[in-house]
Order: sequence, then structure tokens, then C-alpha cells
Amino acid sequence: MTAHALSPQAREFIEGDHHLLIGGEWVRGRGADIPIENPASETVLTTIRAASTEQLDHAVAAARAALNGLWGRMNVRDRGLLLNRFSALIERDAGIIAEIMTAELGQTLASSRGVAGSLSPALFRYYAGWTDKITGEAFDPIVGADVQQFMGLTIREPIGVVGAIIPWNASPGMMGLKLAPSLAAGCAVVLKPAELAPLCASYFARLWQEAGGPPGSLNVVHGHGATIGAAMASHDGIDKITFTGSTAVGKAIVVAAAGNLKKVTLELGGKSPFIVFPDVDVEAVARTAASWCFVASGQACIAATRVFVHADIHDRFVEALGNHTRNLIVGDPTEPSTNLGPLVSAAQKQRVAGYIASAKAEGARMVCGDEPVPAVGHYVRPAVFTEVDPAMRIAREEIFGPVMSVIRFDDEQRMLDTVNDTPFGLSGSVWTRDLERALRVARRIDAGQIGVNVHGPMSPQTPFGGNKQSGWGREFARNGLEEFLKIKAITIRIGDRP
Ligand code: ADP
Repeated sequence: MTAHALSPQAREFIEGDHHLLIGGEWVRGRGADIPIENPASETVLTTIRAASTEQLDHAVAAARAALNGLWGRMNVRDRGLLLNRFSALIERDAGIIAEIMTAELGQTLASSRGVAGSLSPALFRYYAGWTDKITGEAFDPIVGADVQQFMGLTIREPIGVVGAIIPWNASPGMMGLKLAPSLAAGCAVVLKPAELAPLCASYFARLWQEAGGPPGSLNVVHGHGATIGAAMASHDGIDKITFTGSTAVGKAIVVAAAGNLKKVTLELGGKSPFIVFPDVDVEAVARTAASWCFVASGQACIAATRVFVHADIHDRFVEALGNHTRNLIVGDPTEPSTNLGPLVSAAQKQRVAGYIASAKAEGARMVCGDEPVPAVGHYVRPAVFTEVDPAMRIAREEIFGPVMSVIRFDDEQRMLDTVNDTPFGLSGSVWTRDLERALRVARRIDAGQIGVNVHGPMSPQTPFGGNKQSGWGREFARNGLEEFLKIKAITIRIGDRP
């Protein structure tokens, strides 16, 4: 995409200043310069300035001051109204945000519009509704012999200062997942977007100001993961980290968080199974498998990267998959006809190329994926492999690129053993008209959410998160809110004083 394809509003924003938002003030970053590339054109869109670690300290202090000040005192109705105003502003500017997202990330404009105009504002609206429904309980504690002597209460309080560290993919959606529940809970937030694609976060910071967010309630700092991200994870002034990204970084955050035992929620990698039984419409389900494996050019944690196909339909399925995938259009993400935009960076493209080479070397059969790609831009053709042994690297590791492993099965139990023989446990789906079989299989997959004849449905009401090394905790739904609340128990003597 050339800069000319951008609307004047998006271009003006991208080329403007991307200061840090600290305590309600725009502050010039004093850290490193970070050039932001358009992965489709390989040109530099703009350069942002990272925060220094001292500026991170200021942001954390501003968040703490907000909790003790205006933001902490705001009543729950006004907090909900603020989140609703913010949601409306995201909706108002969804077209601009989608353009920015496509420019910095390379994802097709159509899917950027879905994230910016639908998922993200829906999350803010959903959590706006929770602000005045955060309640505790009353109960009869047994203290000593006489139950009548005491009354117990619980109240739910904001967990405190939250550090939100998000990845480059679908950042308006990631902000919905991190900011909406934490702000609804009454926490104050320091947000660090990914250094590869920080511009949507910069835009959200501006909208939070416009919505009337009190100073320090939301602070936005830019910077590299190894410096500012790591400093957040180990920061004594941060009470909780909410993170989405790779499993390796998630583990580093857990270690760094041990210093002050801050709470941690993690949404990490996946290797999601897509399990197809013979009683399905083979052509239609093959197309759906492709769309869920190649979503965002495969750069999605829930991507259906392991497709288990029953032997009875395997060959027909693979043929349909190949025919469909060969016709997918890889190219300019601003073109409405494009199915897959580029990968986010040259490094990511190289990584994916390494996996494709490993699959060939290990003896998998490439059904498609060798066709040429545009010379400029980090493009990769969607690749389908069959004859994949579950022990191969492409079947075991998270690739974050458009590479599908098709694994043949005939025995349900052995298939399930293979499905679960992975360190990941994020998501998955089962495709069959036989409801008993669907539920039996769904129950036995070790993952946080399973679709039956649907893959990766994202709704604000549906809890989402990973088992095993795919994460800690849940996002979306009431569960997502609870991650930002702490319970205080109060016991009141109501009988005779001692
Ligand atoms: P991805 O593979 O999606 O880029 P990463 O896990 O590498 O995921 O990065 C996700 C986010 O984590 C980014 O904002 C990045 O800057 C940040 N990050 C990277 N390394 C660290 C670290 N050691 N500590 C904290 N945050 C980090």
C-alpha cells in the first residue's frame, strides 16, 4: 500500500507526532527512535520515540495518582458512561483506525475494519455495562461458637495499576481485551503496544483524551519489549500485568513478575486443531479450514494450523483445499479482492520460510504454496502440507504464518491423543453433524474454547484463554473482568462486644 492510498485523516495521523500519554499530558519519548514500516511497501510510515525507563516510572506514578485521585473517585455510572463514549468514538473513527492498522500491520482492510469497527467497540460497550454491576456478597461467618455474632461481607476492588503489554496483531481488538475490563474494574493502566505496530494504540490514546478519560487513568508508553516491556514486568509499582504474545515472552514475564509477586494474565501461543469427520460438506468445510488457518495471513493465535481429516474423506478434502488455496489472492491489503496481505516483517517472513523448508526436509508433501509472490512486501503464499507426521516441527511449533498441516486419522481415540500431545491448549473446532460425537470430542480436547461447526468465534460474552502453555486466566465475559478485581473480606461483629 502506498501512502497515497490512505485517507488524509489517516495519513495526517500517521505522519504526526506519537508522543507518550502520561498523566493526561503528551510527552515526547526520550528513548530510542523506532521506525514503523509498512509491510506491504517496505517503506517507513513514520518514526516513533520510545519512552525512557524514567518516563515509564512517571507513567506508573501517574497511574497510581489517578487511582488515589479523580479516577479512583469517579462513580461507577460515570465510569460506564465514559467507556460508552470511548466505544462510540472508536466506532466513529473505525474507518481511519482500520486504515492505520492495515498500514502498519499489512492485514487486509476488510479484516481491519472488522476488528476496529466491530470487535473493539463491542468490547468497550460490553464492559461499560459491567461497571455498575460489580458486587460482593454477605454471609454468616462461623467465628467461635455463635453464628449470630458476626456478619461477613466481600467487596471487589480494582486490582490497582495494570501494565498491559500487547502484540502487533489486531491491536484494536487487543486493546478491547486489555483496556475495557481493566478500566471497567476501576484500575489505572499503563499500556505498551508492540514496537512493530504501535500506531493504533497511539490513536486510542487520543480518543481516550477526547472521551474525557481522567489524567493517569490510561497512560500509553512506546518502546521495545526487551527494554520497556521487561521494565514493566519487573516494575514494583505495577500490581498486575496483562499480556498477549508469544509463550517464550510470557514465561519471561512470569519470571520478571516474581520480584513483587504481581498478578499476571497471559494469552499465549496456540496450535489449534480443526477436526473434520466424514459426514460434512467436504468442499465447504475445506474452504472454512483455509479461512481459519490463513486468517490475518496466519498471524492469529487461534489459527487452525493442525487440520485433522478422517481417512474416508482425506483425499477429497485435500484436493478441495488445494484448489481453493491456490486461488487465494496474496497482495495489496487495501485491494478489496485480496485474501492475504503480507506478513508483518521481514523477520517473520524469514521465520515462516524456515518452517516451510523444514516441512519439505522432514518429508511432508506440499500441496500448494510454491507459487510466486509480489517482489516488494513481506508476502508468503498460503501453504498446505499433507503426509504430516505429528512429530514434525510444522505440526508442533507455533508458526504465525500461513502454513497448514493436514493430518489423516481414522481412530477417534488415537486422533485425540495426537490433538492433545502439544504444549498448547488454546482453541479448536470439531466438524460433524453427529452431535454426540461433537460433544464427546469437544470435551476431550484440552483447550480453553472449542467450536462445534464453527472455529474461533469471538464474542464479548464468551470466555477466551488458554490451557497448558497457552496461557493463564481468561479474557472476555465476566471472567475477563474478574482478572482485574481483588476481593476484600470484611467481618463485622454484630453481637455482644467483648
Ligand atoms: P509476537 O510474537 O506477537 O511479537 P511477542 O511476545 O514477541 O509476540 O511480543 C508481544 C509484546 O511483548 C510486544 O509488545 C513486545 O514488545 C513485548 N515484549 C517482548 N519481549 C518482552 C519482554 N522480555 N518483557 C516484556 N514484554 C516483552
